[in-house]
Amino acid sequence: MPASFSKDFEELQKVLGYQFNDKGLLVRSLTHKSYAGEQGLKSYETLEFLGDSLINFFVVDLLLSEFPEASEGDLAMMKSYFVSEEYLCELGEELLLDQYILLGGKRRNNHVSTSLLADTFEALWGAIYLDCGRSADFVRELYAKLYRKKIVEAVRKGEYKRDYKTLLQEETQRRWRERPFYRVVSVEGPHHNRLFEVECGIREFRATAKGRSKKSAQQLAARRVLELILSSES
Ligand code: MN
Repeated sequence: MPASFSKDFEELQKVLGYQFNDKGLLVRSLTHKSYAGEQGLKSYETLEFLGDSLINFFVVDLLLSEFPEASEGDLAMMKSYFVSEEYLCELGEELLLDQYILLGGKRRNNHVSTSLLADTFEALWGAIYLDCGRSADFVRELYAKLYRKKIVEAVRKGEYKRDYKTLLQEETQRRWRERPFYRVVSVEGPHHNRLFEVECGIREFRATAKGRSKKSAQQLAARRVLELILSSES
């Protein structure tokens, strides 16, 4: 562990408003498998797995408490934004996590990627949960204290409403590291009044949609597939 480490962690813990009882857990949440392998340490992967679930829960709980009238569809759309790699990476950047991540071998001098930052951000919350004695309430409140304002503002500004092809692709990349396909099923009508039917699909999820342009048909089909995927978890 670098000499400056303990000092640096003070900053991080101050910003989080949380002091770890077990510093080993904090270090583990920032230990990439490339470093873990070299040093014979545990990497952050299982903490990330745990943190991912916790953050989903914190975000849904926060959204429901702030926007009790929102429909399930809207909540799903908001949630997918606030737990996206892109968004969690932003939160990780705010905590300057890239300065703490422990990388080994060739990765050491690489730029810290979006997914790496998002993953360690998730792992950090898994670590806090275990460290505080598995109190979901405590950690949920800490998360809300840090991010409620930011999330509520983003909802009010409509920041989460992005185009559906992008949203869908993010979701499928995150889940399966795959991209959806798009296929024109039919084109009807005269030139000045075309109607396109497009199919979108990934894995067992399929939907078709019609539109006056290929693009608008794709957007609608992407939205339908995304809704199928998001509602399949419940
Ligand atoms: Mn992750």
